[in-house]
Amino acid sequence: MDNREIAVGIDLGTTFSAVAHLDDLGRPQTLINAEGDKITPSVILFEGADVVVGKEAVKAMATEMEQVADCAKRDLGNRMFHKVLGGRQYPPEALQAWILNKLRTDSERQIGPFRKVVITVPAYFDEVRRKATQDAGYIAGFNVLDIINEPTAAAVAFGFQQGFLRVDGTATADQKILVYDLGGGTFDVTVMQIRGNEYIALATDGDVQLGGRDWDQRLVDFVAEEFIRKFGMDPREDPNTFGRLWREAEDAKRTLSARQKASIACDYKAQAIRVEVTRDQFCEFTQDLLDRTAFTTRQTLQAAGLEWTDIDRVLMVGGSTRMPAVFEMLKGLSGKDPDCSVSPDEAVAHGAALHAGILLARQQGKPSRFKIKNVNSHSLGVVATDARTKRPRNAILVPRNTPLPVTAKRVFKTQKANQKSILVAIVEGESASPDDCSQIGKCSVRHLPKNLPAQTPIEVSFRYQENGRLTVVVQVAGTDKQLRHEITRENSMTQDQLDSWRQYISNVPVEG
Ligand code: ADP
Ligand code: MG
Repeated sequence: MDNREIAVGIDLGTTFSAVAHLDDLGRPQTLINAEGDKITPSVILFEGADVVVGKEAVKAMATEMEQVADCAKRDLGNRMFHKVLGGRQYPPEALQAWILNKLRTDSERQIGPFRKVVITVPAYFDEVRRKATQDAGYIAGFNVLDIINEPTAAAVAFGFQQGFLRVDGTATADQKILVYDLGGGTFDVTVMQIRGNEYIALATDGDVQLGGRDWDQRLVDFVAEEFIRKFGMDPREDPNTFGRLWREAEDAKRTLSARQKASIACDYKAQAIRVEVTRDQFCEFTQDLLDRTAFTTRQTLQAAGLEWTDIDRVLMVGGSTRMPAVFEMLKGLSGKDPDCSVSPDEAVAHGAALHAGILLARQQGKPSRFKIKNVNSHSLGVVATDARTKRPRNAILVPRNTPLPVTAKRVFKTQKANQKSILVAIVEGESASPDDCSQIGKCSVRHLPKNLPAQTPIEVSFRYQENGRLTVVVQVAGTDKQLRHEITRENSMTQDQLDSWRQYISNVPVEG
């Protein structure tokens, strides 16, 4: 074990990732990757036996699109990434681990070896995706100290920067802020209260399938339709042409944040066009996407029980908040200028590094400088049978936006005498139908004491930790014995699989 431990925070983004550490004065600093950039594209290229992550992989989207994996974060929670790469399908955790591995290698060039990290997740991530993120960290050879919600991390970085949180631990502010995080692949909104050195999430909502990529797609479609009109062929059909067109479109989108118009070139099968797009046109055909974020923002404020006049600041994070339309929309909603004082690309990684610093200090027996209080982003339920319809339904135990940690108990009864085990299906989601919820898995309570009569109450406690991860504790009525139980997860990797991926990707020996 190294005596000088380093606190590292990783913003593992859908489209871009960033790493920060704390310098000698305890201030977060972004680490620069091998290419000299502060952010690394979360894109992976499979080139024969080589796996290339970052800028080079993005370039390959123009020529080897079929060997490129992007937005793997959107697939976390599924067993396999949706695309076959080099004749093989990979679990999204493994793809995320390759990204983490590149981030680690590059960062270690600057700060030396480290193992302990905090990784960020969208606040709206469900339990399964949170676990998958921790698993990706494990595969990459890390000891994941914790995961932290991205908007919370941004708020912590903001508080630190504003001097709410001084190095000596004193903090005075009491503010309510709304964090609007629009990245490349996900959208998150959280209402937070910063009270002294406490960061309290009041409500959170979002969409894990909405981000800058969707804005890009609209530009791609706009150009493709022009192309079809002119030449009767769809350039989106060919993956490499699509990759090239997407890169052009993303570039034009950035230009439109700075200027009133941009042009996008597209060539396919010896035909070429250049299409001009104005900012107004772009705003018009992406208005519905922006409206979706506005709707969610209003709902989150409502869920927090607040009005716009209660909000002291609207904090914008995520690269897509550079689009002027976002600023205007938030200004229109809130009646005040959104705050652009934190770097939209770095704030999340900085907050994660600060959190990592606190956890390390705590491990070394030092008092913590700040406290984070979180809420759950999805309701937690168990699958029960509806007495009337006899159909399975989601019996909600912990409604969304409940402060964490929280424990919910539910009593199940054995159905027959001498029953050995009971099986409880756990889901997350708002729908009454379990099929429309995220299936966490089945919790099997085994080794029930012998000769229990039928209808013996078995108390099952579901405990959400601060970071939104779930544990289950089981107790049989009349005994003080806690039973062995395990959650058999629907789409999650087994420990053996995790270990062999860890060996394979990061060459780090298995712990324990
Ligand atoms: P994530 O965390 O989801 O990976 P980021 O916060 O890094 O995302 O934001 C990346 C997104 O921001 C991309 O979709 C990118 O195109 C977009 N983006 C970056 N700069 C600009 C800009 N100047 N104008 C518009 N969009 C931008
Ligand atoms: Mg992000």
